Amino acid sequence: MSEYEVVPQVKDFQPYSAGLSISEIKEKYGLSQVLKMASNENPLGTSPLAARAISRYAEYAFRYPRSGNPRLCSELASFLSVDRECIVPGNGSDEIIDLLIRMLARPGKDNVCAFSPCFSIYALQSRLAGVEFRQVSLREDMSFDWDKLLALTDEDTKMVFLTNPDNPSGFCVDAEEIIELSNRLPSRAILLVDEAYVEFTSDAKKVSLVSRVEALKNVVVTRTFSKMFGLAGLRLGYGVLPVELAEYIRRIRLPFSVNILAEEAGIAALRDEYFYQKTREVVLSGREFLSRELAGLGCRVWPSQSNFLMFTPPEDAQHVFERLLAQGIIIRPLKSYGLDGSLRVSVGNQRENKLFVSALKEIIHG
Ligand SMILES: *Cc1c(COP(=O)(O)O)cnc(C)c1O
Repeated sequence: MSEYEVVPQVKDFQPYSAGLSISEIKEKYGLSQVLKMASNENPLGTSPLAARAISRYAEYAFRYPRSGNPRLCSELASFLSVDRECIVPGNGSDEIIDLLIRMLARPGKDNVCAFSPCFSIYALQSRLAGVEFRQVSLREDMSFDWDKLLALTDEDTKMVFLTNPDNPSGFCVDAEEIIELSNRLPSRAILLVDEAYVEFTSDAKKVSLVSRVEALKNVVVTRTFSKMFGLAGLRLGYGVLPVELAEYIRRIRLPFSVNILAEEAGIAALRDEYFYQKTREVVLSGREFLSRELAGLGCRVWPSQSNFLMFTPPEDAQHVFERLLAQGIIIRPLKSYGLDGSLRVSVGNQRENKLFVSALKEIIHG
């Protein structure tokens, strides 16, 4: 059909399906106000210190960033109490995930394993790299079945992906369980633990693997500024890796993928302790509120350690989603995750949470 010849994996490529945008919905339904609770963005917006840094550095936009973003790496190293050499910043954690797959897995030979459902970027970037992507179901309660995951792996498994806390369920395990998994993996496999939401767990120290990466050798961690740090639109994430792997990524990454504004905003956000604490308070109390209210409306609610909740409404999920949308409230249907009956809502601020609950009440109880 096309006169252009592209590689087979590009020909059949199914792009990432992003949540709906506010302007799309305003236009479609003729609404002036829209609440977006679909993409797990920060309910308090952008850190004021980060916003100020962006304005201050706007006049430097004509300059290339300093190669390797050394200032950001130093700030992150002290924030995380890890060696600076272990840190690689990226244009969102998506970039780090993509680079690791391309750097580690041989097309047509190696495979990558994960649970199903999982964050779609793992599958998309594996397939784009020409690497087989294998999946095994989570348990019905969305918990991790390690034996089933291990049974999926073999001598050609080069990477195993795990999201902790998980998306879309919010399920979370302690680091000790993951360390045990890492000890049982085939010898060539690298375990990537995606900690995009770890800052929202009740005890991040017990959950995170950042301090264990150097000792374990076969574990890498990715994190992001998109959620807790409120910078999703600037695209900033990072990997924490054993030094040797970090050196390889630094060699292959595009030289300026983290731009000046993202770097300065990231540094400012790391220093904004007030914003961090406030976000935690708002999300943890909002999560409790929403989970109680949803259960009260007859929804099954999955326990979440994250800034979102997965729930199954007592009536058709697609219908509920569309009715909310018509009222200007965007949440996330989970059809693309293979969970047709369920929905995911990001924890908003108090006002957003209340508006969402009252709209849902109206839909369910008419
Ligand atoms: C939101 C999210 C990310 C963040 O990706 P960025 O590219 O850093 O914005 C990573 N992993 C999961 C599972 C997520 O939900």
